Amino acid sequence: MLNSISENIKKISFKLEEARIKYNRENDNIRIMAVTKTVSPDRINHAVEQGLNLLGENRVQEYLDKKSSYLPTAEVHFIGHLQSNKVKYIINSVKMIHSVDSIKLAEEINRLAASHGLTMDILAEVNIGGETSKSGLPPEQILDFAYNIAKFDNLRLCGLMTIPPPDNPEHYFEKMFRLYDDLRSERINNTAISILSMGMSSDYIEAIKHGSNIVRIGSGIFGARN
Ligand SMILES: *Cc1c(COP(=O)(O)O)cnc(C)c1O
Repeated sequence: MLNSISENIKKISFKLEEARIKYNRENDNIRIMAVTKTVSPDRINHAVEQGLNLLGENRVQEYLDKKSSYLPTAEVHFIGHLQSNKVKYIINSVKMIHSVDSIKLAEEINRLAASHGLTMDILAEVNIGGETSKSGLPPEQILDFAYNIAKFDNLRLCGLMTIPPPDNPEHYFEKMFRLYDDLRSERINNTAISILSMGMSSDYIEAIKHGSNIVRIGSGIFGARN
């Protein structure tokens, strides 16, 4: 089991390097995130020991149950749907929240970040395919949202995150890059737009082609979830 995790990581790192060359991304820092939902801490730590120290957490309770077992070198980002009343459980142990999809949630993160004397890095989650089943802001609201977020002293908007519709993800990655590029060009005060979080096990190569710099990979590293 642990062997296959090492093999999977090697394979993904190799394909990522190939894609960097093919798509002219050699000078960009592209990070692989290990998405940990349903995976036991010993297997997660094995990935961390292979150098994959960026972890993506989906569920607050599951994260709280596992986090004390993680190696201290792990950097944890929260990527799942987050309710405002749960922010307090993760505020002082995650480095970035990828799934900010409302002003109300942003307000609560800002309030708790202030009370802990920290600035939280966040991404705005975009519902790029307009799917009713998915959370995220409509693309046409992103600029307004960014200007509103910029008013919060204890938040730093760092970019965008998405999960595209499963059919033709590449089309949506392309749209996401344009949205990201427009946002970056706005040069809004108190933002640091540098992260485009998109691409999962089945489509990370296409995401890299279109400018992703964090690919979030679960089953491709740890195997299929039950
Ligand atoms: C589960 C999950 C992933 C990874 O999905 P895989 O297909 O297993 O690679 C990425 N991002 C989010 C938000 C997820 O919930």
